[in-house]
Amino acid sequence: MESPFLNEQHKLIRETVRDFAERKIKPVAKELDEKEEFSEQLTKEIGELGLFGMVVPEKLGGQQMDYLSYIIAVEELARIDGSQAATVAAHNSLGIGPILNFGTKEQKEKYLPQLCTGEALWAFGLTEPDAGSDSRASKTKAVLEDGKWRINGSKTFITNGSSRLTKGATVQAISGKNNGRKEFSTILVDMETAGFTSSTMHGKMMWRASNTSELFFDDCTVPESNILGKRGQGSKIMLKTLDSGRLSIAAMGLGAAQGAFELALNYAKERKQFGKAISKFQINSFKLADMALKIELARNLLYKACWLKDNKKPFSKEAAMSKLYCSEIAKEVADEAVQLHGGYGLMKDYDIERIFRDQRLLQIGEGTSEIQRLVISRLIGC
Ligand SMILES: Cc1cc2nc3c(=O)[nH]c(=O)nc-3n(C[C@H](O)[C@H](O)[C@H](O)COP(=O)(O)OP(=O)(O)OC[C@H]3O[C@@H](n4cnc5c(N)ncnc54)[C@H](O)[C@@H]3O)c2cc1C
Repeated sequence: MESPFLNEQHKLIRETVRDFAERKIKPVAKELDEKEEFSEQLTKEIGELGLFGMVVPEKLGGQQMDYLSYIIAVEELARIDGSQAATVAAHNSLGIGPILNFGTKEQKEKYLPQLCTGEALWAFGLTEPDAGSDSRASKTKAVLEDGKWRINGSKTFITNGSSRLTKGATVQAISGKNNGRKEFSTILVDMETAGFTSSTMHGKMMWRASNTSELFFDDCTVPESNILGKRGQGSKIMLKTLDSGRLSIAAMGLGAAQGAFELALNYAKERKQFGKAISKFQINSFKLADMALKIELARNLLYKACWLKDNKKPFSKEAAMSKLYCSEIAKEVADEAVQLHGGYGLMKDYDIERIFRDQRLLQIGEGTSEIQRLVISRLIGC
């Protein structure tokens, strides 16, 4: 896994997170998936390892690392288990990210130290039942009255929105009209605020050990100072947040592809049919070669996007490309990996079955593959 983008710190992070994922997550991943159980214990241990707030300054409780370090950590978690990687990616990119990038000094000092520990999670509420790809179709409203925001509406599919560790959510709401167009603002809502409730969504095909929720706001009232950024900046905050979030979804795709590839390679070398290992049949060795090629390309693309971000250069196009490519190769590689496992690849006793399911969200969450193509086509001037 050599790459010109990696320094000694990056290599150490990969080694450390890989070791943790193998020792602590792998033995329990299947059971948590089967029981559809979010593990507070594992989340806290991930926090102790320092994987929450990796890019947050030390004085605010974080690790003050670069973005590539964080991306490598997500990749290594996803190599073993999509659910734990989802908890970490959503909390860092969508929970911590907007507060770090747009919060006031007071907001950062109030929220970030706790959110960097693994003892507290924060969610990001954009999607609504009738507003997915078209986030401007959302209906949740925030009305400013007597120095307070009164919020009414609901959000759906929100990661980390209803676990016992969840302390609140950043919520996008219509805060008025500007030149006849909806004005959006983002507001921080603490979990215990009256009128804010959440419920866990069950029955997911994938990420079954991650927490996915509906959020409800019924005359939920928070102080005016809970606005994140400026009034009317909601869409800008959400778009910037999604730019960075896409890199972590890409990392999950890369990690899932890497995990699927390793399982397939090992299995193909062990499984014998017609008197020899199935990896010795050229059609299978060429499949494995194609998988390795796709993973290499995906890694180079994603690490380059991170390099651009870490060096404060524009990276929106590369982030969308990475999200699109890494999630699509995850699907292709996981599919071929199942094929190489034959019938066993369809059985829950084999980890490839879970990776095959977990990767399917990656072409949908944080902007579907179709929306990524739309974003890229605009950024290349179509
Ligand atoms: C497990 C899980 C976790 C999630 N976590 C969060 C979270 O933490 N916070 C959050 O806010 N959201 C979250 N989401 C929501 C996720 O981001 C949305 O599901 C996603 O944006 C797609 O929206 P949708 O599901 O409403 O699909 P739709 O937008 O209804 O899309 C349906 C289909 O139509 C296509 N389509 C839509 N518009 C166009 C177009 N203009 N051109 C071409 N095709 C188009 C789409 O590509 C897709 O194939 C999560 C979702 C899941 C399943």
